[in-house]
Amino acid sequence: MKIDIMGVPFDNVTMDEAIARAKELLSGGEPFYCVTPNSEIVYEAMHSEELLTVLRGAALVLPDGAGVVLASKILKTPLTQKVAGVDFADRLLSLLVEEGRSLYLLGSAPGIAEQAAEVMRDRHPGLDICGTADGYFKDAAPVIEKINALSPDVLFVCLGAPKQEFFMRDHLGEIHAKMMIGLGGSLDSFAGTVKRAPKWMIRLNLEWFYRLIKQPSRLGRMMRLPKFIHAVLANKRKCKS
Ligand code: UDP
Repeated sequence: MKIDIMGVPFDNVTMDEAIARAKELLSGGEPFYCVTPNSEIVYEAMHSEELLTVLRGAALVLPDGAGVVLASKILKTPLTQKVAGVDFADRLLSLLVEEGRSLYLLGSAPGIAEQAAEVMRDRHPGLDICGTADGYFKDAAPVIEKINALSPDVLFVCLGAPKQEFFMRDHLGEIHAKMMIGLGGSLDSFAGTVKRAPKWMIRLNLEWFYRLIKQPSRLGRMMRLPKFIHAVLANKRKCKS
């Protein structure tokens, strides 16, 4: 079931259901892409028809963030749970091992994808990571050529939003990968170069606060969260009247 949050159709799924859906899509014939928008991205999509269209074109739209779940509650169409992109990615790795599917990691600063690959292989013995490339390229063509030479089943696209979303839209079909998924800074998380918040903070929906303390430069971007909630409340009032 889909739940509309400010025009973005989120899949109302638990983590297990999201993985089951990915499994089903992977066994189909068509290439597809998945997105994991947080409230900052939804806010951006509220002001960009182009971004909204890309999000709407995704086969799976997962709510990455407490802000999106809060908005769904305000709108009285509550999402079952947050499905953070990095957690989904980790669970997806188990599925890839189980099904013997290959993975290519694209994104982050040079060297990070390789470090992330090592950690992933340690955590998921047997995982087939067939290639990696950093996300700071000027011309996409040689990068795509490298990926296509290996034809991975799955491509993690970690270029930050909305660059990764436009990349997936632009190259769907051209890239020989069944599934592409935009995962922001997830490779930094796997590599350990950017630490995730302690579990208790994640439980209390304070992961955003932890990231802000660690990277104060994110303040400008994070100011979109209160603006987003304000817009959701205004939308609710408009719908009521
Ligand atoms: N990045 C990239 N190429 C670029 C710009 C950014 O590969 O041209 C990477 C960056 O190194 C980081 C990720 O994209 O690993 C974005 O991380 P951020 O935490 O900002 O993403 P979010 O998850 O918040 O969208």
